[in-house]
Amino acid sequence: MRATGTPRRIGLLGGTFDPVHIGHLRGALEVAEIVGLDEVRLVPNYRPPHREAPNSSAQDRLTMVRLAVQDLAPLSVDARELERDKPSYTVDTLESLRAELGHDDQVFLIVGWDAFCGLPSWHRWDELLDHCHILVMQRPDADSEAPEALRDLLAARSVSDPLTLAGGGGQIAFVWQAPLGVSATRIRQFLASGRSVRFLVPDAVLAYINAHGLYRASN
Ligand code: ATP
Repeated sequence: MRATGTPRRIGLLGGTFDPVHIGHLRGALEVAEIVGLDEVRLVPNYRPPHREAPNSSAQDRLTMVRLAVQDLAPLSVDARELERDKPSYTVDTLESLRAELGHDDQVFLIVGWDAFCGLPSWHRWDELLDHCHILVMQRPDADSEAPEALRDLLAARSVSDPLTLAGGGGQIAFVWQAPLGVSATRIRQFLASGRSVRFLVPDAVLAYINAHGLYRASN
């Protein structure tokens, strides 16, 4: 644990990043700017090996995220969920990160609206807010209604201004950044059908995809 120093404000954006794309990167950057975060770590999620095909391997996903954020402060990569050979839940990641941080450092879990709506299925989801605040990114394909299971939580924990989030956690705020209607699913479909994904992923990621023949129909 860090003993002293200015408290840090750290964002975590988990995802499969299969592949990482401009929706993730613009979202992370805009949230960092709007909320004033010192750092946003992209956290590639573990996925059981048998579920890899026809998508890319954990190593490829990690390498693409590394390529995407190189020299792109305040974005960085946190590979801890891939360094274990079993599923790593977000609540475990938060606990392990918290153990490394100073008491006053703040952690913000960043999720797109679609991911947020699935929160009640996450492992020990009711403990997440013990370790962090949650920032929900608007997504253009989002349904406007929150699922029933989240309504009480939203009523009790949401604040309208993300800049008012104080302390170690416990609250939820929405961040209305410029929407980008791009998804990894769409990118994989484009590649499988031989279409270009130029400008949907960073050029370095595109070069990696091409060099390794990822997401092609024959894979
Ligand atoms: P897939 O299409 O394979 O489901 P995805 O594009 O949704 O992938 P993920 O890696 O699953 O990407 O997403 C990681 C996080 O980024 C999630 O919280 C998701 O909601 C968010 N996200 C993904 N795309 C966008 C986007 N275009 N705008 C805002 N948030 C996004």
